[in-house]
Amino acid sequence: MDIPLVNLRGQYEEIRTEVALALSDVLERGDFILGREVGLLEEQVATLCGRRFAIACASGSDALTLALMALGIGPGDEVLVPAFTFFATASCVARVGASPVFVDIEPHSFNLDPAKLPRKARAIIPVDLFGQVAEMEKLSDAAELLVEDAAQAILAGRNGRRAGSFGVLSALSFYPTKNFAACGDAGMLLTDDEALAEKLRRLRAHGASENYLHQEIGLNSRMDTFQAAILLVKLKRLECWTEQRIAAAAVYDRLFRESGQDGECVEIPTVAPGNHHVYHQYTIRVLGWLPQRDPLRDELHEQGIGSAVYYPVPLHLQPCFSHLGAKMGDLKESERASREVLSLPLYPGITEAQQERVVEAIGDFLQG
Ligand SMILES: *Cc1c(COP(=O)(O)O)cnc(C)c1O
Repeated sequence: MDIPLVNLRGQYEEIRTEVALALSDVLERGDFILGREVGLLEEQVATLCGRRFAIACASGSDALTLALMALGIGPGDEVLVPAFTFFATASCVARVGASPVFVDIEPHSFNLDPAKLPRKARAIIPVDLFGQVAEMEKLSDAAELLVEDAAQAILAGRNGRRAGSFGVLSALSFYPTKNFAACGDAGMLLTDDEALAEKLRRLRAHGASENYLHQEIGLNSRMDTFQAAILLVKLKRLECWTEQRIAAAAVYDRLFRESGQDGECVEIPTVAPGNHHVYHQYTIRVLGWLPQRDPLRDELHEQGIGSAVYYPVPLHLQPCFSHLGAKMGDLKESERASREVLSLPLYPGITEAQQERVVEAIGDFLQG
C-alpha cells in the first residue's frame, strides 16, 4: 500500500454525508458567492484565532495582496519577506508595486531570522512556516507594519497567542492541502481594526461600498459559499485533526531518534521556545557531503512513499526577481534549506506502522 504525502480522500470519507448536506443547502438557496456560510465562517474563524474581524476572500495569495492594498503599500515602499517561503509571500509585494527585500532564515525554525534584518522597512511579512509561528516580538521592530502570513499555521501558537493574531493583519489560506482546507481556492484576512476590516470588505468586491458605487479600485476576490460550507463542516474537527498531526510528528521524532538517524544523516524539526507547532509539514533536513536529498526522494517515490520539497528555489534566486540583483551566496541559510529539506507524509489517520516504513526506508537509503 502506498503512503501518500497527504490523504485528502481519507479525510473526505469521514465527512462525506455532512458535506453533501451542506452543499445541497447552498444549492437550494442559490447564494453562491459571499452567502450565508461565508458570514458564519468569518465569525467562527475570527473567534478561533483571537481576532475581532475576519474577511473571507478567494485565496491566501489574494488575502496577502488585499492586505497590502488596504494598508496603502505601493511604489517606493520596501517590504521585508523571508527568502524561504511560498512564492505568494513575495509576489503580493511586487503586485502592489512595492519592492520585496529578501531576508535570510534562522536554520532551526526555518522562519525569518531577526538577526538578519538589513534595515527598517515600511512593512514586514513574517511567515509561520510549516506550522510554527515566527519570532514576532523581535520582527515587529523592523517595520512600521507587520502582516502575518499564517497560511500554514492555523491553531499554532506562540506564548499563549494563536497564529493569525499577530500584527495589524494576518492572512490565512484554505488551499486544499493546508491543515484547514477547502475543496478549491479560498482565503481569509484577520484583523482587530474595524476601519481596515471595512476597507477590506470593499476591496475584495471591486472597491464598491454600496451597489455599484466605487470609492476605490479593488479586486474580484470573493469567497464561494460552497467553500465556506465545506470549511464549516471541517472546522468542527480541526482541533482533533491538528492533535493527530502533532501526535504523528512526535512518533516521527521518536523513530528518527531510536534509529540513530537524527543528527547523523537527517535533522528532525525543532520547536522554538514558547511555540506550539501544528506541523503543516513535517520537514527534515537530509544531511551529508553528497547531495542525497533528491536521490532519496526518488527512492521513496519508487517505494510508493510520497514526499515533497518545499521549497527547491529560494525566492531571491527566482528569475522574476533577478532585476533585484541578488545572487547565489547572498542568503546562505535559505539556499542550504532549499538543498536539504524534505517533507514527509503526515496527515490525521497515518498509522505508526506507516511511519515506521517511512523512517526505515530513509535509514536504509542514507545509512546503507
Ligand atoms: C499556501 C500559501 C500561500 C497562498 O495561499 P493560496 O491560498 O494558495 O493562494 C501564501 N503563503 C504561504 C506561506 C502559503 O503556504
